Amino acid sequence: RFVSLEGGEGAGKTTVLNALREALREGGQDVVHTREPGGTPLAEMIRGLLLDPSHEPPAADTELLLMFAARAQHVHETIRPALERGAWVLCDRFTDSSYAYQGGGRGLDAGWIEQLERQVVGLRPGLTLLLDVDVGRGRERTRGRDLAPDRIESERDEFFERVRAVYRARATAEPDRFRVIDASAPAAEVAAEAVRLLRDWMAR
Ligand code: C5P
Ligand code: MG
Repeated sequence: RFVSLEGGEGAGKTTVLNALREALREGGQDVVHTREPGGTPLAEMIRGLLLDPSHEPPAADTELLLMFAARAQHVHETIRPALERGAWVLCDRFTDSSYAYQGGGRGLDAGWIEQLERQVVGLRPGLTLLLDVDVGRGRERTRGRDLAPDRIESERDEFFERVRAVYRARATAEPDRFRVIDASAPAAEVAAEAVRLLRDWMAR
């Protein structure tokens, strides 16, 4: 009952999550809608630290450890208790984001990320929807939005190409868990496709 949504900037995660939540609630399900980094008061404070533009951006390893500090708290305080009482958990990003951003984007060792995942997270979503969109199109959609402070314009496309490549590789490696959605379509179509995929998965 644990579903995560992943994707690069401008993929339309917010629209899709709202549609998934409505679809589950219409079916009478108890749904916890949460996000990363964040999802508890402490983890949201860590998110604030990570995204705060008033200080130097964190070094890559600092960023990874803060992401996992936030995630550990999120699992303890929000995700596990919700799953234990039988609720659905819809999570906007989860550990796959660390493989994609801190691993692919920032170049940290995937083996280290795996170790942290095993030791401080210990669970994976049953279903992960990957909203896959061309980097250039994602950039057009997010023009003017706040981004992590180190994403200077000249590095952006190469950075996000690496993020996208890791996401796609992970989806290929774990076809039972992942469903890839072409997020270049209009938001309403992407959301309808996501709801269809969730229903198929629930009926599997
Ligand atoms: O998904 P959302 O837009 O809320 O993410 C907030 C910011 O954090 C984005 O700039 C995203 O690229 C960044 N991020 C990251 N590493 C993660 C998760 C999010 O760099 N593991
Ligand atoms: Mg968003």
